[in-house]
Amino acid sequence: MKFLPLQTPNRTIMTPGPVEVDPRVLQAMSTPILGQFDPAFTSIMNEVMEMLRYLFRTDNKWAFPIDGTSRSGIEAMLVSIIEQGDKVLIPIYGRFGYLLTEICERYGADVTTIEREWGTVFDPEDVIREIKKVQPKIVAIVHGETSTGCMQPLEEIGKACREMDVILVVDAVATIGGTDVNVDEWQLDGVIGGTQKCLSVPSGMAPITYNDRIEKIVLSRKKVERGIRTELDQQMATGQTIISNYFDLSQLQDYWSPRRLNHHTEATSMLYALREGLRLIMEEGLDNRFARHRLHERALMAGLEAMGLTLFGDKRFKLPTVTCVNIPQDVDGESVRRMLLDEFGIEIASSFGPLHGKIWRIGTMGYSCRKENILKLLTALEAVLIYHGVRINRGEGAQAALSMYGKQRKESAFSSVVHR
Ligand SMILES: *Cc1c(COP(=O)(O)O)cnc(C)c1O
Repeated sequence: MKFLPLQTPNRTIMTPGPVEVDPRVLQAMSTPILGQFDPAFTSIMNEVMEMLRYLFRTDNKWAFPIDGTSRSGIEAMLVSIIEQGDKVLIPIYGRFGYLLTEICERYGADVTTIEREWGTVFDPEDVIREIKKVQPKIVAIVHGETSTGCMQPLEEIGKACREMDVILVVDAVATIGGTDVNVDEWQLDGVIGGTQKCLSVPSGMAPITYNDRIEKIVLSRKKVERGIRTELDQQMATGQTIISNYFDLSQLQDYWSPRRLNHHTEATSMLYALREGLRLIMEEGLDNRFARHRLHERALMAGLEAMGLTLFGDKRFKLPTVTCVNIPQDVDGESVRRMLLDEFGIEIASSFGPLHGKIWRIGTMGYSCRKENILKLLTALEAVLIYHGVRINRGEGAQAALSMYGKQRKESAFSSVVHR
C-alpha cells in the first residue's frame, strides 16, 4: 500500500477559521452512529436545539443546524424567504456582504446595496435612512466581517426594522460564541452562525435561528407533497414555492419538530461534535467566554503594537475575534506567513480583494483563543520579521502581552471571571 494511515502535522491555528478543535469535541465525534429516528438520537437533536437557544440568546421556537458549511445556513435562510422580485437591501462593508448579495441575486431578489469603505462600518442612521427610501422586504447584513476585522452595531438597525416591519437577516458566522449576539434583545429575525469559527467545532454545520415573523413566510411557501403533508399545510401554501429542496426551512423544521417528517439524514457525527462544542460553551458561560476572547485580543494587540506594527481598521468597531495587521513595507507578506507555518507550525491568514497583500488577519477564536497561542505567535512573528530584515522593536511584543496578562491576574484576584 502506498498510502500510510492518515497523519497530520500539529498546528497552532490563528486564522479566522477553521480553528483548533477542543480535544473533547474530537472525542465526541468518534462516538458510535445512531439511526436518525432512534429516540436516543432524536433526544440529542432536541438537546442541541435547547443549547442553541442559549447560544443565540433567544426564546425562538426554531434553532437548529443546517448540514453544510456556514453559507448553507445563509442560503437556507434566504432561499426560504425570498420570493421572485422581493426587494432586499444589503449594506456592504467587506467581502461577506458581497456573498449575501450574490446569494440574494441568484434567488431572484431585487437587490439594492449600499457600501462603506473596507475597514469601517455603517452609521446605523445611514442604513435606516436607506431602508426608508428603498422599503425592502428584507435587510441582510454581516455582523462580524472577517475580511476587514470590523463589527457592525446592530441594535438600532434591529429596532428600526421591527418598527418598519422589515425582516432582518444577520450573518453572525464570525461572532457567534466569541462576542455577544443577542438575538431577542436586538430584534434580529433570522441569524446564521458558524461552527468552525468561535464554536471550535469542525466546518460542516451552520446553526441558525429564526422567529415567527420568518416562520410565517416560510409556511406560506410550503411545497405540498402528496402523501406526506396534511390538508392544513395545503391551505397555508399561498406564496411561491421555495425553490430549493435541501434548504427548504418548511421541510427542515418539520424534521426538527416532534413530527420528525423525513427530510435529509442528519449528519450524525457532526451533531455529536456540535452538541459537545455547545456543552463546553455552557460550561464556560457565554459572558466568561466573551471576556476570554476580549482578554486575548487585547494581549495580542498590545504585543503587535509594542513590536512596532500597526493595526488595520477603525478601532472603535473592531471585531474582537479577528485582528488585522498592516504588512510592513518592503516585506513579502506571503513569505512571512509561509515561514510561520513551515518553521513554527503557526497559521495566520492573508486577505481578499482590495486588502490582498496589504494585511494579515489573525484570528482569536474559540479553542485557539488562549494565552499560550498568543505568546507563541508573538514570539514567532518577531523572529520571522527579524529574519526578513524588518525593523521592529526587538523583545517588546511578548513582554507587552505578558504584562497585559499580569495586569489581568491582579484584576481577576477581585473578580470571579475565569480565563484559560
Ligand atoms: C467564514 C464566513 C462565512 C462562510 O463560511 P463557510 O463556512 O466557509 O461557508 C460567511 N460569513 C462570514 C462573516 C464568515 O466569516
